[in-house]
Amino acid sequence: NRRIAVFTNAEVESISGEPGNFEVSIRINPRFVTDACTACGECVKACPAERPNEFNYGMDKTKAIYLPHEMAFPMKYVIDAAYCKKDEGCKACVEACKYDAIDLAMQPKTLNFKAGAIVVATGWKPYDANKLTNLGFGKYPDVITNVMFERLASPNGPTRGKIIRPSDGKPIESIAFVQCAGSRDENHLPYCSAVCCLASLKQATYVREQYPNAEIYIFYIDVRTPSLYEDFYRRVMSEGVYLIRGKVAEVTDIAKSPEEEGKLILRVEDTLLGRVRRIPVDMVVLATGMQPNATGLSLKYRQGGELPTNEYGFAVSNFICFPYETQRTGIYAAGCVRQPMDVATAVEDASGAVLKAIQCIELVSKGMATFPRSGDLSLPIFFLQRCTQCKRCTEECPFSALEEDEKGTPILNPARCRRCGTCMGACPERIISFKNYSIDMISSMIKAIEVPEGEGKLRILGFFCENDAYPALDMAAMNRLKIDASLRVIPVRCLGSVNVVFIADALSRGIDGILLAGCKYGEDYQCHFIKGSELASKRMENVQETLQRLMLEPERVKFVELAISEYDRIPEIVNEFVEELRKMGPNPYKGF
Ligand code: SF4
Ligand code: SF4
Repeated sequence: NRRIAVFTNAEVESISGEPGNFEVSIRINPRFVTDACTACGECVKACPAERPNEFNYGMDKTKAIYLPHEMAFPMKYVIDAAYCKKDEGCKACVEACKYDAIDLAMQPKTLNFKAGAIVVATGWKPYDANKLTNLGFGKYPDVITNVMFERLASPNGPTRGKIIRPSDGKPIESIAFVQCAGSRDENHLPYCSAVCCLASLKQATYVREQYPNAEIYIFYIDVRTPSLYEDFYRRVMSEGVYLIRGKVAEVTDIAKSPEEEGKLILRVEDTLLGRVRRIPVDMVVLATGMQPNATGLSLKYRQGGELPTNEYGFAVSNFICFPYETQRTGIYAAGCVRQPMDVATAVEDASGAVLKAIQCIELVSKGMATFPRSGDLSLPIFFLQRCTQCKRCTEECPFSALEEDEKGTPILNPARCRRCGTCMGACPERIISFKNYSIDMISSMIKAIEVPEGEGKLRILGFFCENDAYPALDMAAMNRLKIDASLRVIPVRCLGSVNVVFIADALSRGIDGILLAGCKYGEDYQCHFIKGSELASKRMENVQETLQRLMLEPERVKFVELAISEYDRIPEIVNEFVEELRKMGPNPYKGF
C-alpha cells in the first residue's frame, strides 16, 4: 500500500496538537547504509568488529555491520555505531561494497508530519530473569528464558535450530520448563502473562521432536489453555511430558546424590503428591512473563509526556467497555502494550484500534466528540474574565484536553475534549459550562424540585451519572423494583461534573439529603471518564466544609459506587438513606 510509510531506526521526538491535527516529530537515526544496499552480505565478510546479537538475546554475535534478522524490513544492512571501528579509521565495509551503499558520515534526520490519530503498538519485553535470583538465571548458563529457547530452537537461531546445552554444546537428556517465572507473583509480576503456558507446551514439542527419549518436565501453578487449546494440552500430555503442579523454590547445581552430579536440580513442592521433590535436569527454561514496552510518545501535554499507565505499566484503558481507548483522545493502544495477549489476539486488537482511529478522525473532522459521548457537538465554554488561574480544571481534566498559558489560564484543545464536564465540576468560580449542560441549567432543575413539608415528608436529590448509575435506575424501573417516592434524580454526564455549588443550592433549599451515584473507581475503575467518580468522592471533603458552614450533618450527603449490573441494590440504598435521614430529622432550611 503506497499510502503506508514505514520509518525504521526511528524514535518519536515529540507529539503536540490534538486528534485530527497531531504534529509529530520523529528522529531517524543513521543506518550508515543507503537504499542502494542489495543485502549481498559482502560487507559482513570484511567487517572486523563484533557485537552481541540482541535478536538472539545475546546467545551469539553479529558483525558491527549486520542484517537485524532474515525477515528484516527494509531488507538492508545497518551499522551499530557503538561497535563500529570507523573512528579508528576502518573502512573495510566501504571498500567491500560493490554498490557504494555505505555512508559512514550519515547523520540523524528529523522528520515532521501531521497525523489525524495515533495507534501505539510498542509491544512487550520479557521480565528481567536476573531478578529471579532463586532460579539461577545468570548464575548457570544452562538456565535460559523461554524467548531464548525459542531462538535456540529456531532454524535461523544461534545453533541453527539444534537444542543443545549452552554451557558445553552437548545434547540434552532432560529439560525442565518453569511456569510463572515472575508472573502471578506479588514480588514480581502479579498478573498472568497469558501466553507462557501455551508457549512452554509448544516448546516441549520441539524437544520431543529432537529427543524422542528425553525427560521433559513442566512445573506449573495452573495450566491455562483456554478454549480449544485444551486439545493441544492433551496432545502434549500424550507425548510423555511430565506436568508437575508446584512452584519451583530453587534451581541449584549442588548435588546430593550420584544421579544429581553434573545436573541442575530443581527443588519443588509437588502440591498434588504433597511432598518436596528434587528433579535433576540438563537444562532449565524459565517461562518469564511479559512487561509492556514504554510508548515513548513524548507528548507535549500539560499533564505529561507519557500515556497514563496502570501500576504495571500497561497503557490504561477502560478495558471492559473500551479496550483500545487510552486516556489521551485520538491515541489508541493495541496489543501487549495494553495487556498481555497472544499473537492472534494482538492482530485482532490492531484491527480494532485502527478502526477506532479512523472513527476518531471522522468524528473530530465534524467537530464531534469521540467516545463515550460520540457525536456530541457541545464544548465547554470558559468565562475567562472571572478565571482566577487556580488551575483546578487543567489539573483535573482526565484527558489532558486543557493546556495553560503562561499565567495559568486554561486553553481548550477541542478535539481532545470528551465533554465529561469534569472541568465544570472542578471550577470554584463556576465559570465553565456547556450550551446544553450548564451550572445554570442544573441550578434551575434543583429550584424546580418540590420540597414537601410536614411530619415525615422527605425529599432526596440524586445526582446519577449517565453511564452506569442512571441506566441502573432505568433497569430497576424496568424490573418493577419499588424505590422510595422521596427520590428525585438529575442525570449528570459524570459525577466529576457535579459542582459543590449544586449540593449547597439543594441543601439550602431544604432538600433533606443528596445521593451521589457514580461508577466504581480505584484499580478496577469503571468510570467512562476515568476519574470523575473518584474526583467526586475526593471533593466530598469540600462538601463537608459546605455542610459545616450550613450547620448540617455530614451524613446528609451520601456517595455510592454503582455498576449498571447492580440495579437491584438501588431500592435498598435509597431505603437505608431514607431511614438515616428520618433519624436526623428534616433539613432545618425547609420552608426558608
Ligand atoms: S469537558 Fe472533560 S475533557 Fe473536556 S476539558 Fe472539561 S474536563 Fe477536559
Ligand atoms: S478552575 Fe475555573 S478559575 Fe480555576 S483555572 Fe479553571 S477556569 Fe479558571
